[in-house]
Amino acid sequence: MNTSNTRYNHLNDYFKNKFGERTLKICIDGGFSCPNRDGTCGISGCIFCGEQGSGENIKKSYSFENTIDINSNICKSISKQVTDYFASYKATRANKFIAYFQNFSNTYADVKTLKSRYDAALIDDRIVALAVATRPDCITEEIIALLKSYANKYHVFVELGFQTSNDETGKLINRGYSSETFVKAVNLLADKNIEVIAHVMVGLPGETLKDVANTIEFLNHTPISGIKIHSTYVIKNTKLAQMLENKEYTPLTLEEYIKTVIYIIAHLRKDIIIHRISGDAPKDLLLAPSWNLHKKWIINGIEKNLEKNDCWQGKFC
Ligand code: SF4
Repeated sequence: MNTSNTRYNHLNDYFKNKFGERTLKICIDGGFSCPNRDGTCGISGCIFCGEQGSGENIKKSYSFENTIDINSNICKSISKQVTDYFASYKATRANKFIAYFQNFSNTYADVKTLKSRYDAALIDDRIVALAVATRPDCITEEIIALLKSYANKYHVFVELGFQTSNDETGKLINRGYSSETFVKAVNLLADKNIEVIAHVMVGLPGETLKDVANTIEFLNHTPISGIKIHSTYVIKNTKLAQMLENKEYTPLTLEEYIKTVIYIIAHLRKDIIIHRISGDAPKDLLLAPSWNLHKKWIINGIEKNLEKNDCWQGKFC
């Protein structure tokens, strides 16, 4: 059981243990794209992904206009995002911070470009970690060597999209890589002692509890150290929004979501840190389900149900 005596490995406790105190993330738009959008492996992206590449809550602050050196413009924007953060009230809430590259695929560039953008964020001594969200097909040995080069000074996390171990669902959601590709990337990163956090989604089109069970069983056999559990929500201007409109997709109810998350927690390996147990839907873009806006309902519902059923992480693992 962890320090706050909750029934699962909570991220805040993990950060307190690792960094000695409360540690907050600075969400950064690193100006990257995604191979599933630029035509390298697809053009329309994953069916649930919005125009900001899963970073709708970050305001874009760079522009490609009036510049010949796009990368330098983006680097300036990255540094500005960090200095703006430290100038805001948010920076008063902790002493240690994580530079978190969130939108799109943050290892999707050559190593020189990647280094310039990561360096542009690591400009304040209060930053103790570098976290990079990406796709497993954007992980190479060269990129891992770059990430590893930061490990002397910073803790390094890599978040990998996965969503499901069912490759048929993977095709349906237009993920653009297989579960095998995910496993290869996890193994390469874990071999170099880089912490990997897998994203999974609950409520994907056509998926049942059995699919979620298989996904958790699958992940339990990989060397991931953390998991982010997302509720599938529908935002405007996505393929999933069209499916919702055409009645080809029905979102889960809150009760169904809570029941599934309880199942995940009970079957998840005991050492895995749970970084997130719900999605963070952008209010102005959300079409359904509306309960997604009420994070407290979701978290309280999960905690109450864990208590009521005397359930804890790994109980049935
Ligand atoms: S991999 Fe990520 S950024 Fe790319 S389309 Fe899918 S969700 Fe969006």
